[in-house]
Amino acid sequence: MANLGNPQNTIELIKKYDFRFQKKYGQNFLIDTHVLDKIISAAGVTKEDMVLEIGPGIGTMTQYLAEAAREVVAVEIDDKLIPILEETLSEYDNVTIINEDILRLDIAKLADEKNGGKPIKVVANLPYYITTPIIMGLFESKVPLDNITIMVQKEVADRMQVGPGTKDYGALSLAVQYYAKPEIVANVPPNCFIPRPTVGSAVIRLKRYAEPPVTVADEKKMFSLIRASFNQRRKTLVNGLSNAPGIGLHKEKVAEALEKMGLSPTIRGEALTLSQFAELSDLL
Ligand code: SAM
Repeated sequence: MANLGNPQNTIELIKKYDFRFQKKYGQNFLIDTHVLDKIISAAGVTKEDMVLEIGPGIGTMTQYLAEAAREVVAVEIDDKLIPILEETLSEYDNVTIINEDILRLDIAKLADEKNGGKPIKVVANLPYYITTPIIMGLFESKVPLDNITIMVQKEVADRMQVGPGTKDYGALSLAVQYYAKPEIVANVPPNCFIPRPTVGSAVIRLKRYAEPPVTVADEKKMFSLIRASFNQRRKTLVNGLSNAPGIGLHKEKVAEALEKMGLSPTIRGEALTLSQFAELSDLL
């Protein structure tokens, strides 16, 4: 089968099957062999690995994964792509295609069945409209993971990687950094895709920590404090947390905790590090 990283081959295949791109599924297919090589090497895929690919499209990256990995499971929502995938992946006996919505699939069970519960690698050129639920779902459902190497909107990659004191810092940065070490490995311009997206993209690798970098008594409570702080990011923490629905903290209690931590009573949530949020959560 011809390499689909070559734009001409992709165009021919789309014509042959009279495939219509569906915007609602975030369909932008990669047509750049350098970017494909970079993703595979950033994910560190070897013949030992089981890889989950989310949204294989016409199978461009799946071909690269099938060459590099022991086994690939590719989950695609659009049933119009299944006959195309059957053709483009016909040479590989280590690829399973599942026609399903990734958000409805029990990935932990899949890792158990296909990889004996050992950590899997997730590689994807993600549909941008569901980037956050996919990533948080993978982390929170305790799927055994080595790393997630994904193409996302550039701005979202920046948000995952930054620390306090920048405008991109927020609940997503803290959630990702609690579970994984993020590293942007490539910036990818719109002309590397068919059709071209309107935004820039980036490949980011999230290397799962064996243990979170901070200890906190109640993870859920810490994340609800984080969400409440950034929902009202222009407010001080004292005001933001006492106003927040479902949190119900008195101003005095928040101020007292901040004082114990040696922080100003007028500090905003956007200035706190992950370990400070963990400490605040334990104090409250
Ligand atoms: N991997 C291909 C590539 O790099 O050329 C296609 C990437 S395209 C950005 C995203 C793919 O995810 C599309 O094939 C789309 O149909 C699929 N997709 C969208 N939503 C999905 C979902 N909820 N579950 C599984 N696949 C989905």
